[in-house]
Amino acid sequence: MTWQGMAESRRIVFCRVSGEAADGDCNALKERTLEGEKTMQLLKEKVMKEGIVLSDQVLKVDSFLNHQMDPVLMKEVGKEFKRLFAGQKIDRVLTIESSGIAPGIMTALELEVPLIFARKQKSLTLREDIYVEKVYSFTKQETNEITVSRKFMQPGERVLIIDDFLANGEAAFGLARIVEQAGAEVAGIGIVIEKAFQPGGRLLKEAGYHVESLVRIAALDNGTVTFA
Ligand code: 5GP
Repeated sequence: MTWQGMAESRRIVFCRVSGEAADGDCNALKERTLEGEKTMQLLKEKVMKEGIVLSDQVLKVDSFLNHQMDPVLMKEVGKEFKRLFAGQKIDRVLTIESSGIAPGIMTALELEVPLIFARKQKSLTLREDIYVEKVYSFTKQETNEITVSRKFMQPGERVLIIDDFLANGEAAFGLARIVEQAGAEVAGIGIVIEKAFQPGGRLLKEAGYHVESLVRIAALDNGTVTFA
């Protein structure tokens, strides 16, 4: 966590302890936190109403995130990621095509920085002008090469990674390796829906990344979504 992030966390603790203190900073912080809670509630309601449990491992959310996209909800997602990574210097947002693009562009819009999406390709002849990493796709059960053009990421930049789902962490680790290949730094990893019963979140945190997930799912057993 950055110095500013730590200061913000301490401020949140202070505001909680001091309760209803008539402090402008605390009120602003409370408002932002309440907005964040509303976004998570909206997302949970969408998942409950429209999510289709395909198996005890896979959730389909093609009515608002993976095929049809809900721009109003995505706008709130972007605002919430901005709040969660406040105080961090962020030069670019990086995601992976195609389902990461909606939350990614809304986050980039809020932060007023460019969005890059890594392209997925089956196999590739080596080229000098791109960064390449192999990523095993959890849903498609195949390995893709993901690529980012070298001209869109510079050494020393701080890059925020955004994705729609977190399962085993393959996609997020692949994106982080691309950032590191470029000599840039991962500012954080923002995930819309984390399946907390799969190891990605734990592995990314153990690797030292700052991970924020808007909604965490504890289980998808018996066709039912249980939140963590
Ligand atoms: P990971 O790389 O963490 O194993 O899996 C994350 C990637 O796989 C995401 O980019 C997402 O597109 C896809 N994914 C993983 N689990 C699910 C799921 O339950 N539902 C959907 N729609 N996509 C998933």
